Amino acid sequence: MTPTAEIVVIGGGVHGASLAFHLAVADVGRVVLLEKQHIASGPTAQSGAMIRALFNTRTYVDLVIASTRMFENWDDIVGGDAGFVQQGFLRITNTLDKSSIGGDLELTRDAGEPFQMLTTEELSQLVPAGEFQDGEIGILFPTGGYADPFRTTVELADAARRHGAEIHEGVQVTDIHVDGGCVTAVETDSGRISTPLVVNCAGSWSDRIAAMAGVQLPILIQPAPTCLFRRPDSMTTIGPILSDGVNQVYLRAMGDAVYRAAHFGLSAEIVDPDDFDDAVPAGQARMLKEGLCNRYDALQRAPGLGGFTALYDMTPDGHPIVGPIEDIKGFWCDCGWSGNGFAPAPAGGRSLAQMIIGSDPDIDLGHFRWPRSTEVGRRVNRDWIHH
Ligand SMILES: Cc1cc2nc3c(=O)[nH]c(=O)nc-3n(C[C@H](O)[C@H](O)[C@H](O)COP(=O)(O)OP(=O)(O)OC[C@H]3O[C@@H](n4cnc5c(N)ncnc54)[C@H](O)[C@@H]3O)c2cc1C
Repeated sequence: MTPTAEIVVIGGGVHGASLAFHLAVADVGRVVLLEKQHIASGPTAQSGAMIRALFNTRTYVDLVIASTRMFENWDDIVGGDAGFVQQGFLRITNTLDKSSIGGDLELTRDAGEPFQMLTTEELSQLVPAGEFQDGEIGILFPTGGYADPFRTTVELADAARRHGAEIHEGVQVTDIHVDGGCVTAVETDSGRISTPLVVNCAGSWSDRIAAMAGVQLPILIQPAPTCLFRRPDSMTTIGPILSDGVNQVYLRAMGDAVYRAAHFGLSAEIVDPDDFDDAVPAGQARMLKEGLCNRYDALQRAPGLGGFTALYDMTPDGHPIVGPIEDIKGFWCDCGWSGNGFAPAPAGGRSLAQMIIGSDPDIDLGHFRWPRSTEVGRRVNRDWIHH
């Protein structure tokens, strides 16, 4: 392992891989990414990886649109195939209240991304397996969809490597040296790397990484269960992701034969990312299936294929922590994405890389700086509950 680096990125989830890729493309000197297990070994690989330009904060809308353009041109920009399925994203709702639909359609419109309002009748035509009540409408985002989070991350890391970054898997960061208020080195279980700049992309472990530099981050880890179901013959996996705000459940295809589904929202439980139960409690799986069957009767006959519980790295206001940490020169963060971090990541890494090298970012990430300013009207982000 190299003894010195211009920039050390900690964590090989989608954020670390994206940042390493964009830094390497910018040719900023020696960029080293350290991952304690393997690329995409954390919650990234279990992500729903759904992409929709519907949020209540313009920064997310812009990031998701820019990431969508990257996914559409993945082979040219990154190389390979991120498994992007642009089948559209459908929000089913009985209100246009912004907090209920998890976004402000004016922001989407202003940003120039298309969406289409559907009547109850049009919903029934688009989703013949669903039963829709009077007053229920749809908001269809035709450019939405989902990607393969594992391939997305591995391909970003591979591309970073091709552009000259060093990617070290199986290397755990154990300490960060700070001298006179400046980062000087990263200690690992495979040796020390001297560096003036570290970026904390450690997701559910990022508060621990921050503590190594003497920075307290208020990130809590919350479990998010997902269930898998065999597709019944009478339903199809063709058509948009079905995000049902009335029953508070989403359903999206995983290949042709399997659906993944989850409830909106989270329990209040806080867990240790190194010691939690990754199964789905039977009661939760039953409740989820009931919610789904309220809409899609055919799912009564869909065998359950089990599920898994993965982790959200939640900040108090639901917004991520991105940018330099003022107190410690050379300590940057890109973490605390609070269940919303997959879709913004491919483009977000570019804006963060631009900030690091001192140029104007394509998309201003100031909304996510830490510590937060206390401007009046800053809203708590709860859009993450609306997958
Ligand atoms: C079930 C689920 C569904 C989701 N659905 C969506 C969705 O539909 N759309 C969306 O946009 N977002 C979604 N998200 C959120 C999104 O997946 C996450 O915000 C994003 O993947 C977080 O990526 P990350 O790179 O920040 O962190 P992680 O994936 O947690 O990666 C952090 C990495 O850091 C490594 N690491 C930790 N400590 C150390 C150390 N000491 N030394 C070296 N390496 C270390 C870990 O091993 C890990 O690989 C979902 C999340 C979950 C859990």
